[in-house]
Amino acid sequence: MQDVIIVGGSFAGLTAAMQLGRARRKVTVLDTGLNRNRYAEHAHNILGQDGTPPHDMLRVARAQVGQYPTVDLVAGKAVTVAGEPDNFTVTTEAGETIAGRRLILSYGIVDEFPAIPGFAESWGRTVIHCPFCHGYEVAGTRWGLVYSSPMSLHGPVLYANWTDDITLFLDGHDIIDEERHKLGKRGVKLVDGKLATIRHSEGKISAVVTEDGTEYGLEALYAHPRNRPSADLHAQLGLEMKDTPTGTMVQVGDMQATSRPGIYACGDLSTGMHSVTFASNSGSLAAMGALQSMMV
Ligand SMILES: Cc1cc2nc3c(=O)[nH]c(=O)nc-3n(C[C@H](O)[C@H](O)[C@H](O)COP(=O)(O)OP(=O)(O)OC[C@H]3O[C@@H](n4cnc5c(N)ncnc54)[C@H](O)[C@@H]3O)c2cc1C
Repeated sequence: MQDVIIVGGSFAGLTAAMQLGRARRKVTVLDTGLNRNRYAEHAHNILGQDGTPPHDMLRVARAQVGQYPTVDLVAGKAVTVAGEPDNFTVTTEAGETIAGRRLILSYGIVDEFPAIPGFAESWGRTVIHCPFCHGYEVAGTRWGLVYSSPMSLHGPVLYANWTDDITLFLDGHDIIDEERHKLGKRGVKLVDGKLATIRHSEGKISAVVTEDGTEYGLEALYAHPRNRPSADLHAQLGLEMKDTPTGTMVQVGDMQATSRPGIYACGDLSTGMHSVTFASNSGSLAAMGALQSMMV
């Protein structure tokens, strides 16, 4: 019987595993190797790792975490989960069953790319989700933002830290005149048509084309496509969920505890604030929560 089974061994899950390994707890980490930022050449805004390729960060992290003798890193997909505190079982696609006293879910989310030619090819390079992660490198250039929810209206205000050339593509949505007026006063250009194509060369965009054929030259396009959890274990467990502007996440309370005892969630799966630092922070909290619950 393991102390903790961690499903998802990326930034959140490996942080939890390291903390538990250092407490000499028996841990199994299941992971399928599809960290969300794998599309980006470099990761930014991470202390001590600014500019490091995500793959390199995780390779080093796995090597370090794997040195703890009580931590078992398994390349495998968790497919079913059941049980109660002190007796959870997770089965893998390969048919292995692992038993553990606590569960940490850190399997992240999947971005659902819109069917716009050029979007998927440019994702993580010049079609980006977060200015703190990838804005500095394209500061002062022509930026676009694809409207996805009312939250998008905050984008141009934030982006003014990096550039004064911002176009908001409404992509078939409508916004009230008052918002149009406010954005206009800030110098934000508004485009009403739906996006048809993103022109790019190997992921480096040069323009966005709307359905009426108009072309808008750009160096960076911000977008927040719909997302969904990468697995359905939270649904199998009947965990409470919470809507975000672009998807859904596992509802957590103190120490990343979910709505069911003995089960913790962390990383992108449990927050609308998506970054490596937030993921690591919540992984650390989840590990503490699981550990404390086993000490009573
Ligand atoms: C294009 C892009 C660029 C980004 N750049 C940055 C950046 O520069 N700086 C920054 O701070 N943040 C960046 N982010 C955000 C960052 O990638 C996420 O916040 C972070 O990866 C979340 O970590 P996580 O551990 O929660 O999830 P993930 O990193 O997504 O990891 C989840 C892990 O769970 C595994 N998994 C899924 N299902 C299962 C299953 N059933 N069984 C076993 N394993 C499973 C996956 O394979 C994956 O390894 C970027 C995001 C994107 C989309």
